[in-house]
Amino acid sequence: MGFDPASRIQDFLVFGEFGDVNPSITDSSTYTFLTQEKMEEAFEHEIEGCFLYSRHWNPTNKFLAEALARMEDGESAQVMASGMGAISTTLLALCSQGDQIVCGRNIYGGTYALLKNLLPRFGVTTRFADLTDHAAVRAAITPRTRVVYVESVSNPLLEVADIPALSAIAHERGATLVVDNTFSPMVLSPLRLGADVVLHSMTKFINGTSDCVAGCVVSSHDFIGRLNDVNCGTSMLLGPVLDSFRAASILKNLHSLHVRMRKHSTNALHVARRLESLGFDVHYPGLPSHPHHALITRMANEGYGWGGMLTLDAVDPTTAARLMQAMQEAKVGYLAVSLGYFKTLFSMPGHSTSSEMPAEERATAGISEGLIRFSIGLDADIEQTARRIEACIARVGLTPRAATKA
Ligand code: PLP
Repeated sequence: MGFDPASRIQDFLVFGEFGDVNPSITDSSTYTFLTQEKMEEAFEHEIEGCFLYSRHWNPTNKFLAEALARMEDGESAQVMASGMGAISTTLLALCSQGDQIVCGRNIYGGTYALLKNLLPRFGVTTRFADLTDHAAVRAAITPRTRVVYVESVSNPLLEVADIPALSAIAHERGATLVVDNTFSPMVLSPLRLGADVVLHSMTKFINGTSDCVAGCVVSSHDFIGRLNDVNCGTSMLLGPVLDSFRAASILKNLHSLHVRMRKHSTNALHVARRLESLGFDVHYPGLPSHPHHALITRMANEGYGWGGMLTLDAVDPTTAARLMQAMQEAKVGYLAVSLGYFKTLFSMPGHSTSSEMPAEERATAGISEGLIRFSIGLDADIEQTARRIEACIARVGLTPRAATKA
């Protein structure tokens, strides 16, 4: 067996101060020092086991960060108050005025808006490229390119990034490969495949209970140290720190992530197979018909399947909206954005999480107006869910012909 992220987390044991099986939660923003000299030393460089101020580090956040670093096989990690906090602090650490980013053209709408609308105000511009066309990625890179930014499995179209190939392209030109692995924790380990920095919105699968917003960055000691530098670290100075109570609850959920990912994956494969067998246009990386099925299978860690996300193209948004409403009424799940929850969630990216992209760019990226994105839940009886979806499809009159792209 190759690398197993779950057994790396399993080996991470931390006790509370009274031998509690869960580590005690640090409920303090600041920490005492026995002497002024010791405090000055802590300001100058990190001292193992010594804490200064919770925007910088606190023990609870450190426990979660350590578990995440193990999961992703990185040297170090930092936890943040949101996925966007993780993305923005990483990009601002890597880029200065005049620098460029090359990014996949199919990405989460919030990341797109950050790159397209906000970072240019600070002199950092982005070229969006089709990541499946490696010649186009190479051509987009200039001497000012500092970062190649990709989603391992893209939101919403589930395109799979060829991380080893993109890493080679980025490194050839001295750029850093940053991978957002939000859609495929456990399934893919980007650092092992050649990425330099891996990010997550922990709001999604890692936490899994849709009760908080959080993010993380995993990389080398050097990079995480740069984020936390008291003089110029973007995490330290922009301040997207995660609250320690949340870090503690996410750490507990992280310990069941491997079980959940397996179940999300088997359930999603079941639904994807059913929809495909009925002739609908379904995208799921676990289906041999998915253009990147062989690629993701080659890169994936054994035993976690292909993840919990799939898309169904209902072509027109009116039918898609009626279908989602019918599915909510039939208790398939919730009409809601986000993903990785124990219940099935569905939404129309063109009219929600990708609406930051102009319609023509969505069309170029291949996001059809009636595309429905599913995050398949942990349903005990997935066959019942599949039958309910099928009944809803019949109810709204969606036919395989109408659902197939022209
Ligand atoms: N990355 C991806 C792939 C996402 O889907 C999202 C949110 O949907 C984010 C990042 C942003 O995460 P957050 O909402 O935790 O800031």
